[in-house]
Amino acid sequence: MSIWICKACGSHYASNDAPPANCSICDDERQFVPESGQEWIARETLAYTHANDWSELEPNLTSIGLSPTIGIGQRALLVLSPRGNVLWDCVPILDEKTRDRILKLGGIKAICLSHPHFYTGMVEWSEALGGVPILLPQADLPHVTRTSEHIRPWSGDRYEVLPGITLHRLGGHFEGSSVLEWEAGADQNGVLFAGDTVQVVPGKGWVSFMYSYPNLIPLPAREVRRIASRVADIRFDRIYGGWKDRFISSKAKEGVARSAERYIRRLES
Ligand SMILES: [Zn+2]
Repeated sequence: MSIWICKACGSHYASNDAPPANCSICDDERQFVPESGQEWIARETLAYTHANDWSELEPNLTSIGLSPTIGIGQRALLVLSPRGNVLWDCVPILDEKTRDRILKLGGIKAICLSHPHFYTGMVEWSEALGGVPILLPQADLPHVTRTSEHIRPWSGDRYEVLPGITLHRLGGHFEGSSVLEWEAGADQNGVLFAGDTVQVVPGKGWVSFMYSYPNLIPLPAREVRRIASRVADIRFDRIYGGWKDRFISSKAKEGVARSAERYIRRLES
């Protein structure tokens, strides 16, 4: 069985021979097929050209990326907790050095994902770390490009992964788009891992909300209002977005409320 990785988005596909004709993630109107056409990378070739990078963001929180990046430059976040470790989001490969480092830290209890653009190497990570459960919202199962017995669907709007670590399905960008609440983060003030369910934008303290980021298709005002009201019920002070330079170090909750108001005002003007 060969694993083929979509060069544009980082999704994995298992195939007995040639790569598939197209990538369902890129064909979706929330992503895109580049002007140069669909391209594939054989998984085994990446072992020689790519490696994970590792950086500590705050106590018990590590960002794991891929260097050089492929796909949309996804990053994963490893949360260490007394009841077990959780991986939030994923990157296309897990190299041996990083696998060993994670195993020395006690391994991972669960892999949780914000949305299908970050599913990438989740099955590879799960298998390499001993069959870690991959928690996916039921609504987004149709977007899985590489199936696995380790996928555990969850439904509803909230799911406690471990004590103090909770998934909230907010929808919007995808029906299953989620955020992860980490109560002990930011010195016990609470952290929200937002992916791009709530997208941190470059201006300090601001976020945005979109149906498609690359194709610039907005969400309706009622959806933005609904997402903002769900976020208002979560206790947090800091946000880590989906990419490494996207974070709001403090007063992030006020930032989400202010940003939603600004955006709705423009949508309805
Ligand atoms: Zn793709």
